[in-house]
Amino acid sequence: MENENILVYPSQFDPQVNVMVIFPGHEKYDEMKPLFDEYGFGFIAPEESLVIINGDILGDDDDFDIDILRFIEAHELGHFMLEHKTRNPEDEKDADLYAYILLGGKGYDNAQKYLVDSFEERHGEPFDKVMIEKFK
Ligand SMILES: [Zn+2]
Repeated sequence: MENENILVYPSQFDPQVNVMVIFPGHEKYDEMKPLFDEYGFGFIAPEESLVIINGDILGDDDDFDIDILRFIEAHELGHFMLEHKTRNPEDEKDADLYAYILLGGKGYDNAQKYLVDSFEERHGEPFDKVMIEKFK
């Protein structure tokens, strides 16, 4: 990984979807950077069943944050599973709510806590469990 600066694996939330984490230093990173700047931590390429995540926000090898990666992966899978075509505040919130369910299903408590703790900052209102009812 250190040498290639890229990580590709089937998503643990849906093995049909591949997750690609690109780190600075990879030949494609500069090409991807404007998309990360526009879409945030990551984005989906639905026609390729691919989630692409900005490795730069996950820390260095020494303090690589697996919980943040799980959260972002679940959030992007949320966009994918909810078949979002656009990025608006409502879609972003729904992707987080769906991610909450995905993370809970895998027992990823720390990643779920990160989602809950950052929810208000991201969406302007505190997380409330009642919000996920519509996905059940
Ligand atoms: Zn999003």
